[in-house]
Amino acid sequence: AAEEGFDIEDVEGAIEAAGHGPLPVLAVVGRPNVGKSTLVNRIIGRREAVVEDKPGVTRDRVTYEAEWAGRRFKVVDTGGWEQDVLGIDASVAAQAEYAIEAADAVVFVVDAKVGATDTDEAVVRLLRKAGKPVVLAANKVDGPSGEADAAYLWSLGLGEPHPVSALHGRGTGDMLDAVLEVLPNAPEQTFGGAGIGGPRRIALIGRPNVGKSSLLNKVAGEERVVVNELAGTTRDPVDELIELGGVTWKFVDTAGIRKRVHLQQGADYYASLRTAAAVEKAEVAVVLIDASENISVQDQRIITMAVDAGRAMVIAYNKWDTLDEERRYYLEREIETELGQVAWAPRVNVSAYTGRHMEKLVPAIETALAGWETRVPTGRLNAFLGELVSAHPHPVRGGKQPRILFGTQAGTKPPRFVLFASGFIEAGYRRFIERRLREEFGFEGTPIHISVRVRE
Ligand code: GDP
Ligand code: GDP
Repeated sequence: AAEEGFDIEDVEGAIEAAGHGPLPVLAVVGRPNVGKSTLVNRIIGRREAVVEDKPGVTRDRVTYEAEWAGRRFKVVDTGGWEQDVLGIDASVAAQAEYAIEAADAVVFVVDAKVGATDTDEAVVRLLRKAGKPVVLAANKVDGPSGEADAAYLWSLGLGEPHPVSALHGRGTGDMLDAVLEVLPNAPEQTFGGAGIGGPRRIALIGRPNVGKSSLLNKVAGEERVVVNELAGTTRDPVDELIELGGVTWKFVDTAGIRKRVHLQQGADYYASLRTAAAVEKAEVAVVLIDASENISVQDQRIITMAVDAGRAMVIAYNKWDTLDEERRYYLEREIETELGQVAWAPRVNVSAYTGRHMEKLVPAIETALAGWETRVPTGRLNAFLGELVSAHPHPVRGGKQPRILFGTQAGTKPPRFVLFASGFIEAGYRRFIERRLREEFGFEGTPIHISVRVRE
């Protein structure tokens, strides 16, 4: 590497930075108006979390990437959902429940000016049952005079209250230090203890009425085994073990699949939070699309969530029994134009109603997981890159021709590559490389990440 103009430490640093697997997840929970969204903005250092201050506004985005003291993690913001028909206690508990399920650690935000309320106490009970590490943020401590208010929150029994002002940033650094002490390096769900060697985890996702519940019932039959029941506001099963094709799979967050309450306000946000939580817990997402209807923006957003989370993905077109020839024709056109970005995802055309092609689901899932875990040896990768670059050099820009010098795969789940280049590599050329990588090595059913380091 050194003779190519890269310092060996740069190279190692770049590989390490690119090679992280799934990031650990931090959930920020608490009552409305305690300052969750403000705090999330602080943590991620941007203004994008709070899109609108109005209640009931649809928000799709619920997870954000953050970095503190050189460590990267994801933050789940539960601030986007207002009180609904369930009433305040149940709604706060329900959204906290999803976020906590998906999280590796939790920041519980309390308004120190108000003190602990009954609703706060209810969340504390959920947190205790979940057993995840918790950092207590006593918010709205804008100055030294508020410190005493924070101290009252020892009464919650969650340990030291960290006085912060999400609005002004006071104390948030210390609080984040405390978070990093309890946040595991890799998501528990994906790599930790019980995850290793256990059943592979599938999230069945899709917008309402695409047939998730029907599909689950069809594939599960009598085989379903409820893994755990989440205490709190519901007795719905959360994860279920289901045997398919002779293999036991864990379908995560199946409670989200059944419609237990008809939600009015905030229902979209609620669904997004639930989808994000399921995706975080899963290794592979099976995205269900209602083939009888036009592919919608909502379908695309759900796909984007799975891709952004770096999960393996299968797309299942359901309700195939209802399609006539004309609809089939237009569906193919729609898939080409709307879902061209994820043409790499294995596709199955199913009917939860008739059972059509159910047997193709498992092979598709296995293909996607295999792609997700593929590792290309460095020697093979560089032989491939060398040929590619000489056959199809980067266009000359400003009299210079940037070249890919070498590359390595820094990680899997999903595959992550770092390429080292002599100059800026244009987006079009990066896409070209991704396309050729896929042609050469497969990667069916998985997003792949390519980062490029340019020699100074
Ligand atoms: P969420 O509903 O929990 O997400 O709460 P928001 O982040 O939307 O904040 C609710 C209100 O509290 C907004 O008016 C914020 O400006 C305000 N707020 C948030 N954090 C602080 C803080 O640290 N100090 C003060 N004084 N106000 C805050
Ligand atoms: P979910 O909201 O995604 O869980 O969707 P459901 O499983 O509740 O299904 C919504 C509606 O679509 C129900 O009326 C189902 O009977 C119907 N449905 C689901 N799958 C199929 C299918 O493959 N074919 C047909 N014709 N109807 C289906």
